[in-house]
Amino acid sequence: MTRIGFWQLVLDDRLSWWEAKRINEAADAADLAGAQAETAHYATMNLATRMQAMSREIIMLRTAITVLVQTLKDTNVVDEKLLDARLEAAMEAAVPPPVAHIASPFAAGGQPSAAEGPRLYTCLRCRQQVPASSTLMTADGPVCERCPSAG
Ligand SMILES: [Zn+2]
Repeated sequence: MTRIGFWQLVLDDRLSWWEAKRINEAADAADLAGAQAETAHYATMNLATRMQAMSREIIMLRTAITVLVQTLKDTNVVDEKLLDARLEAAMEAAVPPPVAHIASPFAAGGQPSAAEGPRLYTCLRCRQQVPASSTLMTADGPVCERCPSAG
């Protein structure tokens, strides 16, 4: 979109100063939106490239671990069942359980699941238990809305 220049405005009877001003403002807004879209596009492309690189690395790691485990099992260096059990336990420890399991401490006591409240965080500053929705996540951890942020 091109802006309307000074001489064009002066020489064209059909165009008022206000119209030209509005059109130029729209042109500026369109230019800005275009630049922002371009920035977002490059950010997305950058992310896609990194995702592809990470996917390749995960495939390579998975292949390496599969070969390693298979070799260990084939050569009878380790007990296959023990290795499987240890791997399973380590995986469980590494991947946190779903939120539902954490938020239902009453499930074992036979309480209905409706007793589940909102997820609570402990505020870093006042040490109060506050609903997760009313906290701000900082670099150090959750801080409740009542505590002013030092940053
Ligand atoms: Zn607080």
